[in-house]
Amino acid sequence: MSDLATQITENVTAVRGRIAEAAARSGRAADDVTLVAVTKYVGPEEIRALVEAGCTTLGESRPQQLADKAQAVAGLPIRWHMIGHLQRNKVRRTLPLVAMVESADSLKLVEAINRIAGELSLRVPILLEVNVSGEEAKHGFAPDAIEPSLAELAGFANIEIRGLMCMAGLDSGLDGARREFAAIRELRDRLRANCPEGIAMDDLSMGMSADYEIAIEEGATIVRVGSALYERISP
Ligand SMILES: *Cc1c(COP(=O)(O)O)cnc(C)c1O
Repeated sequence: MSDLATQITENVTAVRGRIAEAAARSGRAADDVTLVAVTKYVGPEEIRALVEAGCTTLGESRPQQLADKAQAVAGLPIRWHMIGHLQRNKVRRTLPLVAMVESADSLKLVEAINRIAGELSLRVPILLEVNVSGEEAKHGFAPDAIEPSLAELAGFANIEIRGLMCMAGLDSGLDGARREFAAIRELRDRLRANCPEGIAMDDLSMGMSADYEIAIEEGATIVRVGSALYERISP
């Protein structure tokens, strides 16, 4: 194996171990948590190493980069997740490439995904992104904006709503992140208790390199980890 592939394999093994331990602390099995390997910092060589190491669910935050990388490694068994802001004029090009849009961050975007998925004869799994920290610069539904929209969301036939996604606030620190993750889990539980038919509120995508273990302890079923997979363990 190349040095790069060895390093990535070691990092993947370490992250998977920590995922399993955090899952155990929350009374769950390791395979209740899906690792999305975020590839926004890296290229095809690292992506091949990730797939070799068993990471086949990958995340990109920009539609153009997702399209470029998906093409560069076409043929590999990869499930791409869109995890960043998706402009409505990029929806048509992006939907055929992805297994999930985690970052459905407004009703208008969800409407566009539903309409275009219909035109393309696709059924697209999505998560509703929640702006849990309330930061102006962040996209996402306000936490109290989802419940009033549930009936309308349930009417969209070409999407499958699977749950919620969030990012901890930039200045929240680890304790703040834990509180935000707990708040999103509680929101998910409340929504699930009176969800219309056709909407599932099972998935919670939360946690990145700095806070994925905390997120799992607070109920994450999907973690999106980037930089921790590329750092050098040994000099
Ligand atoms: C970049 C990114 C990640 C991964 O961040 P790391 O801190 O590098 O693990 C996760 N989620 C989203 C939405 C991102 O843009």
